[in-house]
Amino acid sequence: MDETQIEGDLVNILFTEEQIHARLRELAVEIERDYEGKDILMVGVLRGAVMVMADLARSFGRHVEMDWMAISSYGSGTKSSGVVRILKDLDTDITGRHVLVVEDIIDTGLTLSWLVSNLSSRGPASVEICTLLRKPEALQMAVDVKYVGHDIPNEFVVGYGLDYDERYRNLRCIGTLAPHVYS
Ligand code: IMP
Repeated sequence: MDETQIEGDLVNILFTEEQIHARLRELAVEIERDYEGKDILMVGVLRGAVMVMADLARSFGRHVEMDWMAISSYGSGTKSSGVVRILKDLDTDITGRHVLVVEDIIDTGLTLSWLVSNLSSRGPASVEICTLLRKPEALQMAVDVKYVGHDIPNEFVVGYGLDYDERYRNLRCIGTLAPHVYS
């Protein structure tokens, strides 16, 4: 893919593809150690977590199951609405399962708090969260995030699954958008 065209819309690159992969491999080692002898059900949140899920899952040397949920919490802008709706539910019964929620980014944490309480009410053995990126506000949320790839500043970022108005998801790196894109 010729990335130069969309990369031109970025003011700076926060993480290259190589840096992202390296960090996911580190997280996978940690997760494998923590879940020794336990089956993991990875739950990805569509659509942003697709890339994280694909690369994290392939960093494991063991079997993992994957399932997906689609929830809406964002409109087409850059602000969290706090309104969460299930657009696609899990196909798996998670009773007694060790659930690992895989996220691309946590901003206010509103989406995730809702998701964790929803999943917890279904009787899983455990629910933990793995996110590639976390913004400062998320530190104030009540939900404990066990695996964090990187803490980033409070900027709107795109790429590697993260979108602005459904664009830039297919960018291999993660970066901040230039102001001219918003206007
Ligand atoms: P929260 O409920 O505020 O934590 O929002 C979480 C969701 O908002 C993420 O799963 C993303 O879909 C979206 N989001 C938050 N910050 C960004 C960003 O910087 N770029 C792209 N999407 C974002």
